[in-house]
Amino acid sequence: MNKTIKQIIEKAKGENRTLLTEIEAKQVFKEAGLQVTDTRLAVNKKDAQTMSAEMGYPVVIKIVSPDIVHKTEANGVKLNLKTPAEVGAAFDEIMASAKEKFPKANIHGVAVQGMAKSGLEIIIGMTKDAQFGPVLMFGLGGIFVEVMKDVSFGITPITKRDAGEMIHSIKGFPLLNGFRGTPKIDVANLESWLLKLSDFAQTYPEIKEFDLNPIFAYAQGAMVVDARIILQ
Ligand code: ADP
Ligand code: MG
Repeated sequence: MNKTIKQIIEKAKGENRTLLTEIEAKQVFKEAGLQVTDTRLAVNKKDAQTMSAEMGYPVVIKIVSPDIVHKTEANGVKLNLKTPAEVGAAFDEIMASAKEKFPKANIHGVAVQGMAKSGLEIIIGMTKDAQFGPVLMFGLGGIFVEVMKDVSFGITPITKRDAGEMIHSIKGFPLLNGFRGTPKIDVANLESWLLKLSDFAQTYPEIKEFDLNPIFAYAQGAMVVDARIILQ
């Protein structure tokens, strides 16, 4: 049991929230041993600009609201911002469309984060089965998951061997294995993440579901770019 994780969960519960913000969820997964984009909350435009300069351009800013689950749908994600002026304009646009599309949403501000170097998009999720408890899902991101439904499942707790099987059994595995000149992905790292997430799901029964969508996977390591956690 990790103290920071417990505190984040308790805080959300205390505020009667079931959705953790992206910032909270990333903090949780960082504590659980995954690599996440450094992400900070800015409560106004000036704050967002100061933080962007501190983090170094290019940056990404995203809406932070416990009432908005899909940020892109709210026009709440702006990528690859390179100057204070771009950050300011993106902040104004995000706030204007959030107010228009979700007039009742409680808005905490925006999440400022570094622009992650692109990699192979992976998704890992967890849902609870009435009979089997936490079940992990692994798949490729983007159209592969949405159109092909090319995913694999593992009932927790999983073994190292299960983790390896989850990764190798998807149809798109050749894409992880160096396909037409794309780099070979660090599969051992993804296996270790599945094992950590299996432990994590077992340790915190108050978590109902989570998804890491996307993770950018590289020849060495990987980076969580977006994370969502829903409590019971
Ligand atoms: P949503 O809530 O709509 O899922 P995401 O945070 O996943 O929003 O952002 C949408 C897309 O923007 C991601 O799928 C990813 O391709 C890209 N993206 C988000 N954050 C970053 C980042 N820090 N660096 C690079 N690309 C990002
Ligand atoms: Mg996402």
